Amino acid sequence: MKNLVFATNNAHKVEEVQQKLNGLFTLKTLSEVGCNEDIPETSDTIEGNALQKARYLWEHYGCDCFADDTGLEVEVLGNAPGVHSARYAGEAKDSEANMDKLLSELDGKENRKARFRTVIALIINGEEHLFEGIVNGRILTERHGGKGFGYDPIFAPEGKNLSFAEISMEEKNCISHRGRAVEKLLEFLKNS
Ligand code: IMP
Repeated sequence: MKNLVFATNNAHKVEEVQQKLNGLFTLKTLSEVGCNEDIPETSDTIEGNALQKARYLWEHYGCDCFADDTGLEVEVLGNAPGVHSARYAGEAKDSEANMDKLLSELDGKENRKARFRTVIALIINGEEHLFEGIVNGRILTERHGGKGFGYDPIFAPEGKNLSFAEISMEEKNCISHRGRAVEKLLEFLKNS
């Protein structure tokens, strides 16, 4: 089986993506290739950050790899926090503080439409490819559920009355931004 490095240190993401790869590729993590440094993410777009992380790994470690970057885009906030989702409430990248800030920004607002958007940047044999996945939904008025990570407790996907933190990882993976982007990545890898 071919090795593919996923440029993340987020164990939740690795688990979600591994489930989708389904034995086609051996997923290697950053620590498994000896990369323990913080990979820079300084772009002002989701695409740019995904590419920056994948290029870093390719340039420093020379391995086939992919990186993802995700933004939560809230309609009434002009698509904020978007590319700034991780640091919405400050440099600490604190999910609880991020959710508190978003809930207070939306306090009293009727339009709670939001979407998660993921871009995966793949570098294979030195060639770059991008894959996008989107899930539409809404921001709840309070946290629900204890599964998942990040903004999951306050995001309900379209057509569901449950948050991402109330459904199983398998169910989230079928409809989520990252699940959809990974499916496109897999389709590409199978056909190439
Ligand atoms: P990044 O792509 O890991 O930089 O994620 C940006 C921000 O979005 C972080 O605050 C993550 O916690 C959050 N995030 C990314 N993916 C998800 C998800 O699947 N559910 C909830 N929050 C997420």
